[in-house]
Amino acid sequence: MSCLALNASFEPLTIVPARRAVRLILDGKAEILEEDSDRLFRSEKYTVPCPAVIRLVRFVHVPYRFRRQVTNTFLFARDDYTCQYCGRPKSELRGRQFLTRDHIRPLSRGGLNSWDNVVTSCSTCNNRKGGRLPSEAGLRLMNEPKEPNYVHLVWAVRSVTNTQKKYIRLFYGEEVLDAVAVPAVTRDEPVL
Ligand SMILES: [Zn+2]
Repeated sequence: MSCLALNASFEPLTIVPARRAVRLILDGKAEILEEDSDRLFRSEKYTVPCPAVIRLVRFVHVPYRFRRQVTNTFLFARDDYTCQYCGRPKSELRGRQFLTRDHIRPLSRGGLNSWDNVVTSCSTCNNRKGGRLPSEAGLRLMNEPKEPNYVHLVWAVRSVTNTQKKYIRLFYGEEVLDAVAVPAVTRDEPVL
């Protein structure tokens, strides 16, 4: 069970595990806006309805650089869990192959760890490329990497309930909700 956490300004911030949401409420750091009465959260001491949407009591300033940080969770989501060189999705990787972060211009050659210089690559393509530029390794990118919209990323990696969607709509409007309404697919649970 996961809970949508809003900033004091009602800006949707992230999805947190129910356990953490309950902790924030007990500590007086958040208030419950919606709870899932069908589900109970049990700990040693208490049993409470699972929070579905909470709002932080105090406004939390989220630094721009934090929002824009490249993490593998968001990078792989941006690239739809697909190697940007050979086009294979994660589900088609075999044996010991796995998804990696590739720096298009290698760090060793002055490349940056920025959204427009990193792509999702399977380990095989990444090894093949080594410390070279894609063109030098005979590789071609499927898409031009761009900095994604932070909100898109958060919802791309999590499926949200209808109750939670209500608050996304409230803050961002219907258009954003439509744009980020990705079909619920079973994916690796990212740690946010
Ligand atoms: Zn590949």
